[in-house]
Amino acid sequence: MSSLRFQALQALATGGERKISGYTEKKITAMFGSNVFNGRSMREYLSDEAYKSLMNSVRNGSRIDRRMADQVAAGMKAWAEERGVTHFTHWFQPLTGTTAEKHDSFFTIKSDGTAIELFDGDALIQQEPDASSFPNGGIRATFEARGYTAWDPSSPAFIMEAGSGKTLCIPTIFIAYNGESLDHKAPLLKSITALDKAAVDVCHFFDKNVSKVTATLGWEQEYFVIDETLANARPDLIMCGRTLVGHSPAKGQQLEDHYFGSIPERVYAFMQDFEQESYKLGIPLRTRHNEVAPGQFECAPIFEEVNIAVDHNSLLMDVMDKVARRHKLKVLVHEKPFAGVNGSGKHNNWSLATDTGVNLLSPGKTPRTNLMFLTFFVNTIKAVHDYADLMRGAIASAGNDHRLGANEAPPAIISVYIGKYLTEVLDEIESRVKDKFSEQDEVILKLDIHKQIPVLLMDNTDRNRTSPFAFTGNKFEFRAVGSSANCGSPMMILNTIMAETLKKFKQEVDALIEKGEKKEIAILHILRQYIAASKKIRFEGDNYSAEWAEEAAERGLSNFKTTPEALDAYVTDAAKQLFLGNGIFTDRELEARHEVMLEDYVKKVQIEARILGYIATNHILPAAISYQNTLIENVRGLKDIGLDATSYKAQLNLISVISGHIQNINDNVEAMIAARKRANNVDEMHKRADMYCNEVKPYFDNIRYHADKLELIVDDKVWPLPKYREMLFIK
Ligand code: ADP
Ligand code: MG
Repeated sequence: MSSLRFQALQALATGGERKISGYTEKKITAMFGSNVFNGRSMREYLSDEAYKSLMNSVRNGSRIDRRMADQVAAGMKAWAEERGVTHFTHWFQPLTGTTAEKHDSFFTIKSDGTAIELFDGDALIQQEPDASSFPNGGIRATFEARGYTAWDPSSPAFIMEAGSGKTLCIPTIFIAYNGESLDHKAPLLKSITALDKAAVDVCHFFDKNVSKVTATLGWEQEYFVIDETLANARPDLIMCGRTLVGHSPAKGQQLEDHYFGSIPERVYAFMQDFEQESYKLGIPLRTRHNEVAPGQFECAPIFEEVNIAVDHNSLLMDVMDKVARRHKLKVLVHEKPFAGVNGSGKHNNWSLATDTGVNLLSPGKTPRTNLMFLTFFVNTIKAVHDYADLMRGAIASAGNDHRLGANEAPPAIISVYIGKYLTEVLDEIESRVKDKFSEQDEVILKLDIHKQIPVLLMDNTDRNRTSPFAFTGNKFEFRAVGSSANCGSPMMILNTIMAETLKKFKQEVDALIEKGEKKEIAILHILRQYIAASKKIRFEGDNYSAEWAEEAAERGLSNFKTTPEALDAYVTDAAKQLFLGNGIFTDRELEARHEVMLEDYVKKVQIEARILGYIATNHILPAAISYQNTLIENVRGLKDIGLDATSYKAQLNLISVISGHIQNINDNVEAMIAARKRANNVDEMHKRADMYCNEVKPYFDNIRYHADKLELIVDDKVWPLPKYREMLFIK
């Protein structure tokens, strides 16, 4: 039987799935939100009273009482049943990195034995999933193993379709019996509340009409798409989502002909299909294009309120994965599926919006609104400066370690890019506002700031694509987030450090006002202090360069290259104070979360180590040995017919080169297994993670080096694993 690789190639050669189905509707608006219990459906299916109560809860976070919840549940059920839904589920985002659901049917049996379809307020508000095997970092001892999911009314319920099955999904938080959070959403919601309060307080310096500030998020999702049958012939892709061996193709991305190139038809059909599913779910996708690497693509929606945007990104990753199967394609959201070509990230565009319709990070048109813009702008820079290590921790994962600092993605050093014009504005404030208050202050405030900023609006080309955290005209773009990450954590951190910084800012300005300073002047002076204090985090140059790493070290900026060390930022005293003070995490929750993240790292590297050992031993060595046998037979034959050694010199050389690689692979695999065993014997999770990072992982490169060399030598016909050129270029 031919190998899976050749069966897959055969199937591709004879056609594969190439049908372009197209959207079922002419206009996107006709499908948008059709599977969402949104404002329109609520109006239609809820009484006035229930509608108002729900909207109030969505807007102001107020509680919904049991009677109202019963009404909302009844409305939701009626809406869902009309669309063929039979089951419901509490949909949540545990710390596994995926989404979780457990379906229950509406169907139940009454005490008299008759069957009925039921969905009441209790079922809507809270469920108790048997959740003892979700990651919890030791928070739930088995005797208290209950976990609860609780309805989050601020994110609308939706219908998930799978084949002909339809399920009503209710977005929920996931917490332990005592309220400790076990997911991404609960802390995110808390951070949204903290930020709202702190930002509204600061807004009141400028505008008393603001009563709510929400963080907004527009994510850009990068991903790879390859043929599913080829992917299935690679145990590393199936189990780890990335290739652990594989020589780079002769042509990679050096011709730069893929970026924004025309989208292959088969991928285009897949995109239309997952876009259609996304539109139905209310995910406002807007942009699609080819990315830099061959086989790499990106999609991005219109930005939304951060909680909904996070849910939508999690949903999208799930939808893409499911829809790809219909097209016999495989989506890879891993940060580094292929060595030698770019990896994938998820840019998180973040800003702050008021309920009066103002984007607080958009430069204003008058001196007053510009001071408001500068306030939020400078506070963001100060927040990132003060908590840079947490920002780094927020994006740490085994997958992202391959990307950060690999000259294709921002480095592990956190810095902020703001562009030439805003740098000039900040420099000027820093140099011209003096410690002492003076008449100059008024002039700077009224005229000079205003004169400078509008220039920025005209020039949006001033972009730095190497920065991990860049200002892009009216928002900050956190570019170092990994492509497989749940946006919830980085957004929760950003919201929280911003809330903390704004709180302090308000106190300091108030203190000056109490001393008799004019409000605007007081603000200007504190801003000047913040600008000076956070200067070292600003960097306008090439973040990929070696010089920057040196300069950053001189500036005293951290550069945590690996996940285990980067995660320490979560459990410093400063972090504990920050999270406790803003009502996000107790110390215990934080320690537990840290433990979960370390464990996740360990497990990922452990699985990779196992699969690499397996592939090396069961796929690569047999192929090498089989080819070597062919060579040996050839040499024997040449000898038999009486030729001398000069005529099979090349074969003899190849035989010995192959032996060398075989030996090296064998030795490194054995050493790696031994290192793994040593690490597994260590109970303390941080120590274990360090060992996996520093003692197990280094063998990966050694093994890969020899495997990739063999790939170049061994007869193509006996090589069992699909090659890079096949996965990246054949569609
Ligand atoms: P690019 O960065 O590729 O030039 P854009 O700047 O148009 O593209 O937008 C990138 C992403 O930023 C999109 O998802 C967009 O919705 C989002 N975005 C735009 N404005 C905001 C905002 N105020 N808050 C959050 N995200 C935003
Ligand atoms: Mg962008």
